[in-house]
Amino acid sequence: MASALTDRLSRLVKTMRGQARITESNVQDMLREVRMALLEADVALPVVRDFIARVKEKALGQEVVGSLNPGQALVGIVNKELAATMGEGVADINLAAQPPAVILMAGLQGAGKTTTTAKLAKHLIERRRKKVLTVSADVYRPAAIEQLKTVTKQAGAEWFPSAPNQQPRDIALAALDHARRHYFDVLLVDTAGRLAIDEALMAEIRDLHATLKPVETLFVVDAMQGQDAINTARAFKEALPLTGIVLTKLDGDSRGGAALSVRQVTGAPIKFAGVSEKIDGLEVFDAERHAGRVLG
Ligand code: GDP
Repeated sequence: MASALTDRLSRLVKTMRGQARITESNVQDMLREVRMALLEADVALPVVRDFIARVKEKALGQEVVGSLNPGQALVGIVNKELAATMGEGVADINLAAQPPAVILMAGLQGAGKTTTTAKLAKHLIERRRKKVLTVSADVYRPAAIEQLKTVTKQAGAEWFPSAPNQQPRDIALAALDHARRHYFDVLLVDTAGRLAIDEALMAEIRDLHATLKPVETLFVVDAMQGQDAINTARAFKEALPLTGIVLTKLDGDSRGGAALSVRQVTGAPIKFAGVSEKIDGLEVFDAERHAGRVLG
């Protein structure tokens, strides 16, 4: 299927007609279009620069310069490079741990952590036949604890109670103990988020990580966050050894360029995509399909 980028490049190539062959400067012009497309998709500027440099190296080879249809050849290279940058095959949840396998959910407030916790619980129950317990370590917002209780019930998982007067670490230890004694396969730990990065939040989640030794530490990030996603990702990557990313709200109208930024900054695979507010709105991330969306 022709993307908007293909159309733009085709128009550009028409203006090159009559020349004996595509030149390096033509490739530069085409790369400028790719750069615009990525910026429009909200890929962060430093990430765009790196990406264009990689594509340029490939494009200057025979593939584009000697091609009958240089626009399409370049789109092919861009697509391939985008998919390779965003993923390497399907990265499912790792549960290879002495049960219960602990999964720690990290991210800003509103990113979709609580919703994703329940979606993931449902996924693990239905697809992996696991016995799943959830707990909230968000002691700042009693409503968040209640919200997790509600969505956990919808997911058909079990919920472990916690309260605002407890310490997150104590909640974690109590939930872990309960999960062990009742033979749960997986413990999903929802954590507090803030509207912006803050040191106290990072210290708290680092402590939770040290206490729980999770097999997965998932960074939940809102695809609509756009350019800012790179700063959030960097802060969480510095605080925690992230093992995966969940990109939420891909049902929105963003082109999802955040995927590229977050992947590059954290080095962690994008494991899932949130595609609706509903409990079953979670998909295994498909890098190739997403590459097409980013290009528009
Ligand atoms: P948290 O503060 O990180 O725990 O975020 P929540 O789980 O409370 O989600 C914040 C809002 O985003 C809620 O209104 C969710 O219904 C919504 N949300 C979460 N994930 C998705 C998604 O994939 N698509 C859409 N459309 N909404 C989502």
